[in-house]
Amino acid sequence: MLLEVNDLRKYFPGPSGWLGKAADHVHAIDGVSFAIQEGKTLGLVGESGCGKSTVGRSILRLIEPTSGTIRFEGTDITGMASRQLRALRRRMQIVFQDPYSSLNPRRRVGDIVAEPLLVHGIASRSERRAKTQALFERVGLRPQQMELYPHQFSGGQRQRISIARALALGPKLIVADEPVSALDVSVQAQVINLLMDLQTQEKLSYLFISHNLAVVEHVSHQVAVMYLGRIVEYADTKQIFDRPLHPYTQALMTAVPMPDPSRRRQKQHLGGDVPSPVNRPPGCHFHPRCPLAQDRCRSEDPMPREVEPGHQVACHLA
Ligand code: SF4
Repeated sequence: MLLEVNDLRKYFPGPSGWLGKAADHVHAIDGVSFAIQEGKTLGLVGESGCGKSTVGRSILRLIEPTSGTIRFEGTDITGMASRQLRALRRRMQIVFQDPYSSLNPRRRVGDIVAEPLLVHGIASRSERRAKTQALFERVGLRPQQMELYPHQFSGGQRQRISIARALALGPKLIVADEPVSALDVSVQAQVINLLMDLQTQEKLSYLFISHNLAVVEHVSHQVAVMYLGRIVEYADTKQIFDRPLHPYTQALMTAVPMPDPSRRRQKQHLGGDVPSPVNRPPGCHFHPRCPLAQDRCRSEDPMPREVEPGHQVACHLA
């Protein structure tokens, strides 16, 4: 297994209480566990604010987790010192949602892509240039474009530049955090196809974070659905899309257009907003929005259970 995450938690101090009352914590991630195999993609889905980006950043230790363990290539990296982490970052990279703000507008894109090589002291100047040229070609850009600045590229091309930078150090895992959400629909498919081609060529693994279930179904081998800092359903992609068992997953999926009539479902309206992670509802955190909620759901917290091989659901009724 390339990556194993076990009972990961991240609590942030909440806003200060009334008259200096101790602040409650924001439970951004609350006991998340999953694994990603080499060359495979785990799709992490959920509404905005459910904690999926915090999971991605915690795995890379860009955010320090509160507790839990992260094992990468068999090594526990949870408490790893910064010097070791630096070496580890060669193997784990991130591609952000917004290619407009993640590229320094004052630097030539060739320098942006070559920067990880420079920072890690890899290769001479001429070798770095040759490597950067090769990276440009791998992501579908022309080496001559290395001399240009980010504003001279379209959104899709900028995301290709971000991907080239992420590939520079030969990573095994890429956390792709909403990598196509900021792009025009017409360009999204091109960037997704590039990520999938790179996966085949390089045996890359992805943690693919997205709120777009159609995209997640297309790219993922497994899917984890998050709600208020927890994974509420986790299974192989086919299992979860053919037979979603958690009411939250079911509601999300009715919003996805299905070309196959046998998979079309009656639209379920997901009422209300995601509750605050500071004041989470007791029992099942989803109960205020769940069309199937019962008395038990208001007081008893459902634990994840394996309801069929490889298919976990946190719901009393599943
Ligand atoms: Fe709905 Fe109850 Fe299941 Fe929670 S445990 S998802 S409230 S049925």
